[in-house]
Amino acid sequence: MEFKVAVLSGDGIGPEVTRESIKILEAIGSRFGHTFNLQTGDVGGCSIDKNGVAITDETLDDILKCDSVLFGAVGGPKWDVTSENERPENGILRIRKELDLFSNIRPVKVYKDLVYASPLKPEIVDDVDFIIIRELTSGLYFGEPKKRWNSEDGIRESVDTLYYNENEIERVLRVGFELAMGRERKLHSLDKMNVMATSRLWREVATELSEEYPEVELIHMLADNAAMQLVTNPKIFDVIVTENTFGDMLSDEAAVIGGSMGLLPSASLSSVPGKQKKTLGLYEPIHGSAPDIAGQNIANPIASILSTSMMLRWSFGLNEESDLIDNSVDAILSEGYRTIDIAKENEKSLSTSEIGDLISNKINY
Ligand code: NAD
Repeated sequence: MEFKVAVLSGDGIGPEVTRESIKILEAIGSRFGHTFNLQTGDVGGCSIDKNGVAITDETLDDILKCDSVLFGAVGGPKWDVTSENERPENGILRIRKELDLFSNIRPVKVYKDLVYASPLKPEIVDDVDFIIIRELTSGLYFGEPKKRWNSEDGIRESVDTLYYNENEIERVLRVGFELAMGRERKLHSLDKMNVMATSRLWREVATELSEEYPEVELIHMLADNAAMQLVTNPKIFDVIVTENTFGDMLSDEAAVIGGSMGLLPSASLSSVPGKQKKTLGLYEPIHGSAPDIAGQNIANPIASILSTSMMLRWSFGLNEESDLIDNSVDAILSEGYRTIDIAKENEKSLSTSEIGDLISNKINY
């Protein structure tokens, strides 16, 4: 099969980790007979330097002609000083808007051999493996009015608006149900229905939609309770779905469970992943451009490589290929190969490209 992938590697360690993902795509292509046509483009600080904007209209047009986007990371101290009006992050914000990427998906997995890297006790995190889905294009961050003013008696006031309609809620919940169908068929839907009208609508829509998925156990949970469960009993979760603001905070809380930012992939999708059709999505490691280690070939490429695996599974329906990447990552970790971020004290660590080579060799044995 043939696929067109936009590759925007960005700044800092973005190009270093993305290079390893491309290695993996090549290995998958040669093992399974697929062709991945790569369309590279600039985004973030490097695009500001070249073009004055974090992403050009031409690059956006090119992306829209692709089947999916592989993204590295953007930003760095250089642009904190020089780019007051055009920030590197504007690149990713524009892509999200243009592609209508309404669901953000982060798998959280604690590898058996890396339990020591988690800040939580081993007995709490052993075997943790769940997905958290965050609504990305509506809610408090986008609702109007959103403003600040001074009242007549000089008091400073401000307002943000939390708005959702049932269609916005339904489509992201459907992503949750669909992903749960491919896993343990357990979906936690998080809300604050005790105090918020949008949450009551959210819960109503979730309950209605669950009739289409009788095989999935739907569990409603208050978001504050979920915040506690994530650090005391994370094993109860399989798939979690929630609105934008709760998801922003809870997905960051969930991210630290695994131990290193360098291990965690993510996907942002513009439609509900189906079994046969292609789903346009953007795939990226959750970490940033890590300027403190950029250019040294020591960044962990696994988050980017697992993002590539997610792309094969959810945008292209290539489940066997995706499983092979995931299993190859598992294998090199259990054989003891580590980059510096996950190595124990005094343990030998490998470079970014050496880890990429090991995983690629497992695929193309
Ligand atoms: P960061 O994720 O870049 O780094 C945080 C820490 O984790 C650093 O010590 C870094 O060395 C380490 N780290 C991150 N990824 C790693 C990897 N793959 N392997 C090993 N260690 C890794 O976050 P930050 O330092 O807060 O931000 C740096 C820049 O990245 C800022 O300009 C920020 O705006 C930007 N940023 C971009 C994105 C994105 O592009 N999606 C996300 C977050 C931050």
